[in-house]
Amino acid sequence: MDTFKETIILPIYAVAFMVLDYKHTHKIERHRVFAKPDAIDDGKLDFALSTGVEVLKVLEEYTDEAMENWGLVTYSEDNLFISNKTFRYGIEASLLFIAHEFAHQWFGNLVTFKEWKYTWLKEGFATFFQYYIASLVST
Ligand SMILES: [Zn+2]
Repeated sequence: MDTFKETIILPIYAVAFMVLDYKHTHKIERHRVFAKPDAIDDGKLDFALSTGVEVLKVLEEYTDEAMENWGLVTYSEDNLFISNKTFRYGIEASLLFIAHEFAHQWFGNLVTFKEWKYTWLKEGFATFFQYYIASLVST
């Protein structure tokens, strides 16, 4: 049994638990990336780790608000695994996915819609900011 602290009021879709037999990368600031053990060992997640740190920093500077408590972002492996054989398109797509999901920490989680019919609003903001923030991040 686990016990958790009471959270602030937050949208139900922002609550997540994962039970995994994964390993994680080393930590940079507040970031670690979890994946199957072979993905950690061969460095496929180094890009996701360093890019996540940079994307979050740029978003915090833009919004002038630190985001410390919305910690779990999930991706499919295809969107995160980058190697020296990955085409430029794959690297840019990974950056956009990371920027999109991190943008949701502000647009969708911190500020959320009141009714489901307005879901498009959080997606609209996250999609706009994925491109804007990605343009500010060097790859
Ligand atoms: Zn989205």
